[in-house]
Amino acid sequence: MKMMAHRLIAVLFAWVGLQVPLSYAQNAPHLLMQQSGGYALQVGAVRVTALNDGTVPQDAKKLLRHISSAQIDKLLAHNFQSNPVEGSINAYLIQLPQHTVLVDTGAGQMFGPGKGGHVLADLAALGIKPDDVTDILLTHAHVDHTGGLIKDGKPVFTKATVYIGKPDIDFFFDNAQMKNSPYGQGYFTGARTTLKPYLDANKVKTFTGSELILPGITATVHPGHTPGAAFYRLDSEGDSITFVGDIIHIAAVQLAHPKVTIIYDQDQAKARAVRISAFAQFAKQGELIAAPHLSFPGIGHLRHDGSGYDWIPVDYVNRAAESVN
Ligand SMILES: [Zn+2]
Repeated sequence: MKMMAHRLIAVLFAWVGLQVPLSYAQNAPHLLMQQSGGYALQVGAVRVTALNDGTVPQDAKKLLRHISSAQIDKLLAHNFQSNPVEGSINAYLIQLPQHTVLVDTGAGQMFGPGKGGHVLADLAALGIKPDDVTDILLTHAHVDHTGGLIKDGKPVFTKATVYIGKPDIDFFFDNAQMKNSPYGQGYFTGARTTLKPYLDANKVKTFTGSELILPGITATVHPGHTPGAAFYRLDSEGDSITFVGDIIHIAAVQLAHPKVTIIYDQDQAKARAVRISAFAQFAKQGELIAAPHLSFPGIGHLRHDGSGYDWIPVDYVNRAAESVN
């Protein structure tokens, strides 16, 4: 009888072993890795694919401003979350007829092993090599957006032109700003390290105000999160999507209270004003937006709800298109 029990347990273990994927079994249960790839959707005639570079836990109580810890707990609980909150690092691929465009590049190696760095594998899974990328649109110069520009200190996208708001280059390469900044030197050296190879190769194009930079893509500077923080709007056949950069980080809190800022907002008052006016406009116009730190794919609509907003993610589609232009 005892023998039978042992054999039964052995069989059960073998069965469980077969059912649990090796990668899951090797990781601690709270470390969940996803497959490489992306989430694609059609915007007019253009294929847009969300890529996920990874996720990072964010301590909302340490990061957010103008809200109490008790309020944060209440809002997170209302969204079935608790502190710290897992934040996505999303980048986006836009496939134009003559251009293969990345919006942001993720953190690359800047956050260390296990946090970020998946954009290249995502691109590879889609059959895209780094040299295929013709243009990179940076929403701003923070390392969770520029980090993927380099790997082991070398530029990754050697054929690409990098677009960025001019005030970000002016600010992050200004030694006086670096000396006096409350963020410390690393905040500046991170941006410099990732951008310098492209600046040295004369591959960086800057813009101010609002400019059509590629067919159907308009870049507009909205100073606040950083001095050169930019939106990129893609228009195609009456459809559009706006890549908004870091106007929102922690959805459960900042959708309910758009006045709440984050420590990373370099100019807190301007960043708040940008968030409030952009949310209002996107909700009123029913505009599709893509946000780097909302849960992957970070693409959806804002709906006005009382004094705040609801986030409506895009529908999930997984079938052959009837016609693709
Ligand atoms: Zn960011």
